[in-house]
Amino acid sequence: MVIDKENFKNDYIEKLQNMFAEDAVDASRLHQYFALGALIKDYCSKAWIKTNKEYGENKGKQVYYFSMEFLVGRLLNSNLVNLGIKDICVEAFGDLGINWIEIEDIELDAGLGNGGLGRLAACFLDSMASTGIPGHGCGIRYKYGLFKQKIENGYQVEVPDNWLKNGNVWEIRKENKAVEVRFAGDVYLKEENGETKVVHENYQSVRAVPYDTPIKGYKNNTVNTLRLWSAETMEEDFDFSSFSQGNYAKAGEDKYSVEAISQVLYPDDSYEKGRLLRLKQEYFFVSAGMQSIMKSYKKMDLSLQDFHKHVAVQINDTHPAVAVAELMRLLMDEEGLNWDDAYAITTATMAYTNHTIMAEALEKWPVDMFKKLLPRIYMITEEINRRFCNEIYHKYNGNWNKVNKMSIIQDGYIRMAYLAIVGSHSVNGVAKLHTELLKHQELSDFYEFYPEKFNNKTNGITHRRWLLNSNPELANLITETIGGSWIKSPNELHNLMDFAGDKNFQEKTQVIKTNHKIKFSNYVMSNLGTSIDPNSIFDVQVKRMHAYKRQLLNIFNIMNLYNQLRDNPNLDIVPRTFIFGAKASPSYYLAKQTIKLINTLASRINNDPIARDKIKIVFLENYGVSLAEKIIPCADVSEQISTASKEASGTGNMKFMMNGAITIATLDGANVEIFDAVGKENIILFGLTSQQVIEYYENKKYRASDLYDSDIRLNTIVNQLVNGFLHSNKMEFVTIHDSLIPHNDEFFVLKDFDSYVRAQSEIDRLFRQKSTWQQMAIVNIAKSGIFSSDNTIKQYAKEIWKAPAVKIKL
Ligand SMILES: *Cc1c(COP(=O)(O)O)cnc(C)c1O
Repeated sequence: MVIDKENFKNDYIEKLQNMFAEDAVDASRLHQYFALGALIKDYCSKAWIKTNKEYGENKGKQVYYFSMEFLVGRLLNSNLVNLGIKDICVEAFGDLGINWIEIEDIELDAGLGNGGLGRLAACFLDSMASTGIPGHGCGIRYKYGLFKQKIENGYQVEVPDNWLKNGNVWEIRKENKAVEVRFAGDVYLKEENGETKVVHENYQSVRAVPYDTPIKGYKNNTVNTLRLWSAETMEEDFDFSSFSQGNYAKAGEDKYSVEAISQVLYPDDSYEKGRLLRLKQEYFFVSAGMQSIMKSYKKMDLSLQDFHKHVAVQINDTHPAVAVAELMRLLMDEEGLNWDDAYAITTATMAYTNHTIMAEALEKWPVDMFKKLLPRIYMITEEINRRFCNEIYHKYNGNWNKVNKMSIIQDGYIRMAYLAIVGSHSVNGVAKLHTELLKHQELSDFYEFYPEKFNNKTNGITHRRWLLNSNPELANLITETIGGSWIKSPNELHNLMDFAGDKNFQEKTQVIKTNHKIKFSNYVMSNLGTSIDPNSIFDVQVKRMHAYKRQLLNIFNIMNLYNQLRDNPNLDIVPRTFIFGAKASPSYYLAKQTIKLINTLASRINNDPIARDKIKIVFLENYGVSLAEKIIPCADVSEQISTASKEASGTGNMKFMMNGAITIATLDGANVEIFDAVGKENIILFGLTSQQVIEYYENKKYRASDLYDSDIRLNTIVNQLVNGFLHSNKMEFVTIHDSLIPHNDEFFVLKDFDSYVRAQSEIDRLFRQKSTWQQMAIVNIAKSGIFSSDNTIKQYAKEIWKAPAVKIKL
């Protein structure tokens, strides 16, 4: 079907009539938006049906990406672009007199994730569909996504994110595909006709109802599915006797406790707290997802023994790790397979992606809680562990120490990462450095035992959302310059290397950047009332607020600059705008105080005539996907300054690079690979290496107080946190102060300070040389193609899933 402007207009007008009995001009914006969404869904539906049919008939391998989070953001733009009708649509709207920008702004972000991990899952969906991999997402349809952040008096205030309040035009509720998920109760084994049967009684039932969202590939006919599960009460469990006796409250109670399961996303980034509801959520979507995979597998009429040849399940971090035991349960209890067959199939099906090496972030559950909530899953986990421990015992000639170290269940806890490793055939880290640290530090025992399981898959980002859609001006310039094949083959961005030194091309990229900066300055003026200079360096750090990401190091450099300016108002520096955006987990006090510190500093500096023409600070409220799309094209400098060894990969770093920002970086996560790609001339490195950091942790020779005593700049800054300089309440920032001294600066802020300040001066020096700077920016864009998630997905498909692409013909 070829859609041109005229038939698009007709379709759209008809859609508005049918849905709302309104014509295009009189309809409300909400209706205009909804009709457009519905029309796009119509355009996808034929290919969606065809894709599913093809997958069912071709019986090739299908991939299911299980993730607790999908940070999708908006879908309108990316659906239009992937359909190839964005321009037609914008023009048609112009003809109809509808303001396109206002329609775009109606859509609320699907904020079903915390940060990088959830956004990765969303980029992977786009790349699987666009590269033709039969790959689907499986997760939870949270009624409330990550909280909305408001800043009041400099403090973060959390507001519920009611993203479904206007309805969600992209999803389709699939009532007939609902399944039952069972919690708690009693489990025992029973002999029946000489066979052992598992009996599960007195359980609580939850109805899992799927909502499907089409994931349209870029200009192909593939439409994969994101299936998100919603928790509802089983109809027969609704307490009608209480209800009819007028006890509405009691009848509602059970309903609420069930629906709580898909009510809200946990706002934790990297730290798990072992809450019962969280475990319920994990098993809820995993069980629903595995059951639904099993159902569609059985429809294909294939042998269960071949399950792993047709199904691959990737688990995004350990949150879905109970999938190992759940698949064992389905194969044995429901399908009657024996342990050995079920185990072989399960491990051949499952693959696990690790996202962190921070010990405090490794998920573990108390045995008592786990056993009570998931009695059968616990039995299976215990048996997996018993057999695994046996293997270790024999391999290491009765070495109990090894058994103890590696046991899945230990000290009253179940360690989910270990369950995931044992139950999978593949364990991958998300950047080269991260995978090496897993192999040789955190998981070295497992690497020694299962070397063949470990592999690296460096994260990526979809260049469609993060360049083509968010920066169409730059995308068009690139296409004018090297042709448009880079969109299907992002590595071809490399052809821009021929233009890195081209004055004309440098000029054009610079103009695009400046225009973005002007637009953003206007946005900041109208939203925050702060005036910023579009000619200043836009120095951007946007990501979750976390001590290891070291927003504090950025702040220390700003405080140092401010102190210098107070001594010497004529200090010769290029004016700079420091832009922050970050949500803090509501229970993470240090992170929340860091937000307050940034805002306190902002109002101080932005209002001080000595400083405000040289440095400005902007804190952007409610950082999320849509804001990221706005700010990243404006950035001159990308702050990727985590303590080396702590950031598994980072993906923000890649988005900035792709939009021509210069990275100031530690050698951490994928920064190392960015450095390898662009070379030392085109990135600004500083700070301790991961090996040095690890050595300091081991030898305990780092003393923050020595630096505090010896470096007058640090001494001043650290004192300013608590001496009334920043805030009349001297206690306001005492927690931040104490984390450094006396608590010895776990993340080496003081240690890396001097090196960071020098790196920032280097940026100041380079930015003055317009041509050099622009050349660096172009090299970064040219080398960014390798970080397209299309490449990452192709590696997963080839090396882990063994899933070839499928071409869908209409
Ligand atoms: C990319 C992205 C992240 C991850 O950023 P990092 O700098 O890698 O931590 C977090 N949040 C949003 C909204 C993103 O788009």
